Amino acid sequence: MEIINDIHQMQKKAEAVRNSGKTIAFVPTMGYLHAGHLALMRAGRQRADVLVVSIFVNPAQFGPKEDFGSYPRDLDRDSALCREAGVDIIFHPAAEDIYPRGYQTYIEVEKLSHGLCGDFRPGHFRGVATVVAKLFHLVKPHLAVFGQKDYQQLAVIRRMVADLNLDIEIVGYPTVRETDGLAMSSRNTYLNAAERQSALALSRSLEQAQQMLQEGERAPGRIEQAVRETISREPATEIEYVRVCHPDSLSELKWVENSALLALAVRVGKTRLIDNRIITTKPGGE
Ligand code: AMP
Repeated sequence: MEIINDIHQMQKKAEAVRNSGKTIAFVPTMGYLHAGHLALMRAGRQRADVLVVSIFVNPAQFGPKEDFGSYPRDLDRDSALCREAGVDIIFHPAAEDIYPRGYQTYIEVEKLSHGLCGDFRPGHFRGVATVVAKLFHLVKPHLAVFGQKDYQQLAVIRRMVADLNLDIEIVGYPTVRETDGLAMSSRNTYLNAAERQSALALSRSLEQAQQMLQEGERAPGRIEQAVRETISREPATEIEYVRVCHPDSLSELKWVENSALLALAVRVGKTRLIDNRIITTKPGGE
């Protein structure tokens, strides 16, 4: 396994791999890897000859009051996990190289970047779209794997790839959870034991919403209200949003026909957690 820090070296290496007739799978991450990331890597590994994982905590997607400074970082631990997962190249660029002095070009995916997390993290998806486009140009992948855990992010990336005619297949991968249901996240390490317990209300409320839909409830407002009540009952929780919306456009729904996206963001103590699920009228959901 190779660790590449230099952006030009990464580009040259990617070009050489392509010229040798091999395909490249890419998994962009911010590091502090967990089983969710490793599942994405396995999906990439199966689909291409060379697997590249980037580890880059992207300053452009954090707001001024967010956790950019304290975001967990441990390259040694991540490298060992990547090696075990059969990663060929870790790309670990420096922020000064990605955003050199004078940098001023950004990508804005207009509608999909608004609503849900976009309303609470202004500029976040602009930062995400920009860095992913740049990483695509540096790593030159044939396909890239993203988690459905960050549903809106995946929608934004798919839109960007379609709108800019990027010749890259985007693979969405289901959310990987702890055995008790908590969606895996690098930010889970911020939670103390009591908060960790409260955080279980997120996945529990998604299951509750699925049950409601299955039992005949079709009104987004009533589903959202029930989810809010379940989460609010837990100590240290503060809801940012709970929204039933269209799974493709992410726009508001007046009524659920067959299926919908239920997305939520909740602060548990100081930690911001997100989760989502496609809820369907059919038994079992998804
Ligand atoms: P991050 O390092 O949090 O930026 O995440 C990197 C990639 O891993 C993104 O595509 C995420 O959607 C994905 N990811 C994060 N957590 C999970 C999870 N629990 N299950 C599946 N994918 C995940």
